[in-house]
Amino acid sequence: MKKLSTKKKTSLELFRLRKTLNALASKEGRATELITLYVPPGKQISDALNMLRDEYGTASNIKSNTTRKNVQDAIVKVQQRLKLFKAPPENGLVIFCGAIPQNGAGSERMETYVIEPPEPIKVYLYRCDSRFHTEHLQEQLREKETYGILLIDASEATIATLQGKRLEIVREMTSGVAGKTRAGGQSARRYERLRDMQLNEYFTRVGGHANDIFLPIDTLKGIILAGPGPTKYDFEKGDYLNYMLKNKIIDTIDTAYVEEQGVKEVVERAPEIMRKVRYIEEKNIMQQFLYEIGHDTGLITYGEAEVRRALEAGAVRTLLISEKVDFLRVTVQCSACGYEEKHTVKSQKLTEFEQGLSGKPCPKCQAPSLAVVDKQDIIDDLAQLAEQANSDVEIISTETEEGQMLKNAFGGIAAILRFKMQG
Ligand SMILES: [Zn+2]
Repeated sequence: MKKLSTKKKTSLELFRLRKTLNALASKEGRATELITLYVPPGKQISDALNMLRDEYGTASNIKSNTTRKNVQDAIVKVQQRLKLFKAPPENGLVIFCGAIPQNGAGSERMETYVIEPPEPIKVYLYRCDSRFHTEHLQEQLREKETYGILLIDASEATIATLQGKRLEIVREMTSGVAGKTRAGGQSARRYERLRDMQLNEYFTRVGGHANDIFLPIDTLKGIILAGPGPTKYDFEKGDYLNYMLKNKIIDTIDTAYVEEQGVKEVVERAPEIMRKVRYIEEKNIMQQFLYEIGHDTGLITYGEAEVRRALEAGAVRTLLISEKVDFLRVTVQCSACGYEEKHTVKSQKLTEFEQGLSGKPCPKCQAPSLAVVDKQDIIDDLAQLAEQANSDVEIISTETEEGQMLKNAFGGIAAILRFKMQG
């Protein structure tokens, strides 16, 4: 159970990081003035600071006054942030900083983002460009999981691992199994029996190597079984693979080859296979939810207010949020008396909502002093509640029928409960 919940938290963490990176990747500077800095673990902060001091000096040669000022301001901001660390955190540190136009020319505002990556970063990199360089972090999103590839036919087998873009062919084996046609003079039955024994020995050998290679990989997400012809199915049917690995077979595909060429065929199709894995997970989670509805067990709820109430009561086992949910949780405060209230507002309606507040009397002191003081993505808001309640959080895409249903029929926010809620 424990393990499951760590895995599930990851879906949220990854979602958050992916969202931040997508936002960063879409930002554009007015000119070459956005700074990206990757500091790997083990690097001295003082080295990075010295390097920035040099870059600051170099920037004084920039001809355009505005660009020079923006670059130098950004470097100073990065230095300030770096100085807050004695040493880089466990996985290193990535800082993005620069003047981002908010609303056309002249509207630039300095934005700074400090990210502690999910995995150790390997590059030490400084870039000053018209965009932020997020690609090394994007890469980490894909690199978290490892896939095992096992190709097999009657004559050869290949075992490989794929982590992110890193493909490693770990082992190649030949079967030594005689061909299907026997030489003259042998009895057909004897020949068959001999061949079966050889095949069995070969499958056992391949299974043994696959167990040795795949079992110790704790990030192993799934195994793809491949090869030309039916041998792969015979191999799968027998007990040659450890049962834990057998349960991890996510797809069985036909390839034209068994060797390196065959591995490449699998890798080409890997993104599609991996996406399928997450869709299957999402479908299973949604099926659970729909089962509870269908059987009227009372162990589900949906709609933002209801789910929030269930979260606050500690009743939520699994929080389901559609990634397409686009609401903000907004805090409104009266600057005269400190009165506070919270609202959920559609992102596109925020300006309208803020305009509606002007001149409106405070419910407590009647002063027309209400204003939005804080806003947060509803996903983050609910996820925080879920973390406090020790609930799992699943961010569900709209790529499956069930995911569409979550968004359209249940407003994108639902929960599977630990216990029934009263009334
Ligand atoms: Zn007030």
